[in-house]
Amino acid sequence: MSLHGKTALVTGSTSGIGLGIAKVLAAAGANVLLNGFGDPTAALAEVAGHGGKVAHHPADLGDVAQLAALFAYAEAEFGGVDILVNNAGIQHVAPVEEFPVERWDSIIALNLSAVFHCTRLALPGMRARNWGRIVNIASVHGQVGSVGKVAYVAAKHGVVGLTKVVGLETATTPITCNAICPGWVLTPLVQKQIDDRIANGVDPQQAQHDLLAEKQPSVAFVTPQHLGELVLFLCSEAGSQVRGAAWNIDGGWLAQ
Ligand code: NAD
Repeated sequence: MSLHGKTALVTGSTSGIGLGIAKVLAAAGANVLLNGFGDPTAALAEVAGHGGKVAHHPADLGDVAQLAALFAYAEAEFGGVDILVNNAGIQHVAPVEEFPVERWDSIIALNLSAVFHCTRLALPGMRARNWGRIVNIASVHGQVGSVGKVAYVAAKHGVVGLTKVVGLETATTPITCNAICPGWVLTPLVQKQIDDRIANGVDPQQAQHDLLAEKQPSVAFVTPQHLGELVLFLCSEAGSQVRGAAWNIDGGWLAQ
């Protein structure tokens, strides 16, 4: 399918899953606006070369004023956002009674509140152009819990709920809103959790295997490419009646 003429904003796309999704959407012909921290040069180079326009905006999505600036930039440079992929997210692992309050606040701000803000800022333009796709990268942790992840699990359950409401509020329009719930994907966010196991004396290969084997029956990682292809399907005509869904892609995690 061709996304030629459509503009995709992928939040948190300087690395990991967001970058993988941005590459698939760009290869399908979309203009792509990247966002995220760090030097974007390498990410821009990976996404460019497919004919669509590519740019990066460095907004910190935990800051509502910067969120507004991101959408003003998208309007001025791209004429608005047709495909919004709410992907940016962070993790912190600690038991609830030791969980740092500032970590709770920053995880809720980015993993949940930024999804609300981006959605409310993107929807008026989608309604005006009478087409849109909102894809929220939630997690299996939007549907089940894991110890030590109180803020992340609360935020991702919130994203799944938000997705249902936006899916209903747009149900009679050519705009859809869905969540994707990945299991383990080997990105910097997950590598940090593997590194914590290695720091506790576990062999690196064993640490990776144990992390997978505890939760993901396939004992294989989901890849950013897999997730990009699923986003692409949700952007297609065949995906137009998938609404308010929480679609797991998790090597069997949620089947247990
Ligand atoms: P990652 O750490 O590789 O990438 C996170 C991206 O978000 C980076 O581009 C980073 O710069 C950006 N970012 C961080 N804070 C930001 C902020 N305040 N404002 C703007 N951008 C910010 O992580 P990832 O593993 O690719 O995760 C992407 C999404 O996928 C997250 O929402 C995560 O919860 C979700 N997810 C990941 C996995 C996994 O196994 N990796 C599984 C399920 C869901």
